[in-house]
Amino acid sequence: PAGPGRVLQRTTPSNTRMTPSVGETLGVGTSTDGTDDAAPSADAPGPTDQARLTEQVFRVRYAGIVALAAIALSVPAIGSHRFWLAGGLLLVAIPETVVFHLDMRRRGSMSPLMAFADQVLAVSVAALEPTVLEPVLFVMLTMTAAAAAMLGPRVAAQAAGVGIVGVVLAALIGGDVPWTSLAAFAVMDLCLVAVVGGVSEHDRSMRVRYTDLVDGLSAVVWQQAGPASPRTFANAEIERVLGFPLDHWDAPGRWDAAIHPEDRNRVLNGYRDAMRSGADLEIRYRVLAADGATVHVEERVRTEPGGPGRPAALRGVLVDVTREHEAQERIEQHLMLVDAIPIALVVLELADPDDDRALIIRAVNPEAALVLGRDVEELTGRRAVDVLGPSDDGTIVAALADVVRTNESFVAEDFRFESHPSSRTYLVHAFPLPGASVGLALQDVTERAMAAEVLRRQALHDGLTGLPNRTLLTNRMRDTLTVAAARGEQVALLIMDLDQFKEVNDALGHDHGDRLLVEMARRLQRVLREADTVARLGGDEFAVLLTRGAEPEAALATAARIRRSLEQPFQISGITLQTNGSIGVAVFPDHAEDAETLAQRADVAMYAAKRSGGGTALYSPDHDQSSVRRLAILGELRSAIREGQMVLHYQPKLDLRTRELAGCEALVRWQHPEFGLIPPNEFIELAEVSGVIQPLTRWVLETAVDQVAAWRRDGIDLGVAVNLSVRNLYDKDLVVWTDGLLIDRGVNPSRLTLEITESELMSDPILAMEVLGKLKALGIATSIDDFGTGYSSLSYLKSLPIDELKIDRSFVGSMTRDDSDLTIVRSTIDLSHNLGLGVVAEGVEDDATMRRLADLGCDRIQGYHLSRPIPGDELARWARAGTWRVGVDAAL
Ligand code: C2E
Ligand code: CA
Ligand code: CA
Repeated sequence: PAGPGRVLQRTTPSNTRMTPSVGETLGVGTSTDGTDDAAPSADAPGPTDQARLTEQVFRVRYAGIVALAAIALSVPAIGSHRFWLAGGLLLVAIPETVVFHLDMRRRGSMSPLMAFADQVLAVSVAALEPTVLEPVLFVMLTMTAAAAAMLGPRVAAQAAGVGIVGVVLAALIGGDVPWTSLAAFAVMDLCLVAVVGGVSEHDRSMRVRYTDLVDGLSAVVWQQAGPASPRTFANAEIERVLGFPLDHWDAPGRWDAAIHPEDRNRVLNGYRDAMRSGADLEIRYRVLAADGATVHVEERVRTEPGGPGRPAALRGVLVDVTREHEAQERIEQHLMLVDAIPIALVVLELADPDDDRALIIRAVNPEAALVLGRDVEELTGRRAVDVLGPSDDGTIVAALADVVRTNESFVAEDFRFESHPSSRTYLVHAFPLPGASVGLALQDVTERAMAAEVLRRQALHDGLTGLPNRTLLTNRMRDTLTVAAARGEQVALLIMDLDQFKEVNDALGHDHGDRLLVEMARRLQRVLREADTVARLGGDEFAVLLTRGAEPEAALATAARIRRSLEQPFQISGITLQTNGSIGVAVFPDHAEDAETLAQRADVAMYAAKRSGGGTALYSPDHDQSSVRRLAILGELRSAIREGQMVLHYQPKLDLRTRELAGCEALVRWQHPEFGLIPPNEFIELAEVSGVIQPLTRWVLETAVDQVAAWRRDGIDLGVAVNLSVRNLYDKDLVVWTDGLLIDRGVNPSRLTLEITESELMSDPILAMEVLGKLKALGIATSIDDFGTGYSSLSYLKSLPIDELKIDRSFVGSMTRDDSDLTIVRSTIDLSHNLGLGVVAEGVEDDATMRRLADLGCDRIQGYHLSRPIPGDELARWARAGTWRVGVDAAL
């Protein structure tokens, strides 16, 4: 008795793996037949087939044993032994098979011992029942063949050896040895080992090669027996791709479930169509991996058309293309970006490194097509010279070719295509690309460039008048001087400062002041030629740059022409305003060799014009002396007070009615160690701007009050007037301080008068009103100086807390010669009296004026006619001597 050969299954090296490989199952398929069922081909059954196959092998073996036992029972030739033979076969062979069956299930592979056990079993039967020797030999041949196929030639040969020796011994024990049969059996047995073992060996090496090949593939190889079958995998690659263990796929429908829901229908329909038509399928879809990630796969599916009783089957190769897909997606994103970006992008290739004209456009995005004014198709392949055309600097093509040659990028700001209709401005970036190419990015920066232009204009022009400002004038002057120097030409600079503009501004408000400046600017431009630059330097200062007619005499003539044009009054919102300017002229190269010096010299000349009152002045080095002096004065002013260089002179006032002295005015001078006695006009303004006015005023007040106290001790009762600057009004402590001073020196507040000029008063009327009110409340007298030069209104005057008006000496000095001045003086006197104010005429230089003022009812006079300002002790002597009375009495 023996099991059928096919029941033996041999181990392969890869059998130790958790899941059987294709090679293994392939081996089973070729060495056994009919064990594969529904699989379209036996060369690649999956792991489930393997288990099924093994079970089948054992089932056949059990059946074989039972069949042999039945035959033993039913063959009468065996005689009386047939019962125990059949029973023994069942009792021994079945348990043996069960043992090896369980062992195989446990180990996963067939034990070589089974081959020996089978041979021993067969020999035992032959020994116990010599009558069945020959059938036993047949069974043993089958066992050897199976062992050779399943366990290899070596195990088979050993088992066969055991079997041959066994049967010979069994025959000898039986006595009757059929030598011929035994010899034939031995030869056939060994031949079977050689032939089947050889085939099996060859087959195994083929399997190993196949296994290596398939396992080495980075593609998933699979097959599916039918539409409802599970997908089985020929290699473990699927585990790497999707992360599921191989047995995950054992259940049907698992693959369908793994397909991305959005792709599922498409893929399943594809399979179905392929199976129906038998056509191959190539499909890309997404699969969900164990970790939930989406894996992109590309699959090639071959269909095996089904036959009768055999459903169509599929075999496929599947490749993970996720990275490729992502790369592709990135490229697509980039392409979309390139197409959508509002920056023109052009790729150009330099076909001939030595020829700029060989720069060819290879690619453009839609924006670039827009910028270049042609279609994308039209542009591709064209020469850059033909498309980019002449640029403003004409070198764009050469520059691009250079980018290829040098491999260095370049940036060009404010680039314009001359040929481009809209003449927009671009920011150009050119950068080297691989393959002798250059990338060109054109960013439209027109708006930005325009904004920058506006800013530049604003930075260089005066916002009010639109005229060039000082910066632009200086720039132009530099350029002009360079050209003029080269050509040996002259350039004149005129600087004009308006007279009394501050007063207009203060009295009528900035609005009127601004409009006056605008009108002034217009008039200046009208008077001057187009080529001359008229600039506003700030405030009420204008400048004119003359390139033609720039000789000193011609420039002075132009200055005079400007002044004449300003003589016409300006009409500003119904108000007639008249103003004129002082103009200083400096000429290049006579007076200065550079722009800065020229401006400085014209400025010096302008101050000279103001001082002289002549209206215009040509620069002369003498002028500079005074400006040097100005600077020196400014630097020394503060220390001059501390060092006692300031002195006060006093100018007396006369009461025209009583013909007695009516106080005096304290006027400051600076006894400068180097420049001698400096008049206040030269430093008061500087003191104001430098803040020295505060200590200076306190010094004057203190000195003057001390002087009053000193005169009184001398028996002279004389009040004093002190001048305030508007900046003194900002000194919060001044009022309290002055009050304290008067108390300290025991001087009655009525002996002190504080004067402030009309124009200064009007520059901050509210503050002036407040401070003057406080002074008046203390009993200090208040006076408006230089009355008539400012623009105070009558209604305003009425509300002011003041005691007197001082008519400006410019009216008084000429009132006997000039009717209009006389009118002003007369009406001012009347006005004062109507307002209940006292009135003083200053600048009285002669008898006639004094007499006239007395006639007009003026209260007091002050002027050289009575006395120049003189030191305090001198004034005391003068007052006591009383010589002045003679002249006054004679005149009045
Ligand atoms: P002011 O207050 O109008 O002073 C009168 C100026 O007229 C004085 O000039 C005086 O010398 C001059 N003067 C007097 N009589 C006559 C005359 O008959 N004919 C002419 N042509 N001029 C005459 P001074 O002393 O040079 O002062 C000039 C200005 O300086 C003063 O004008 C005043 O505004 C300012 N000032 C003088 N001392 C002070 C001071 O202590 N503080 C302030 N804040 N300003 C002062
Ligand atoms: Ca004064
Ligand atoms: Ca005055």
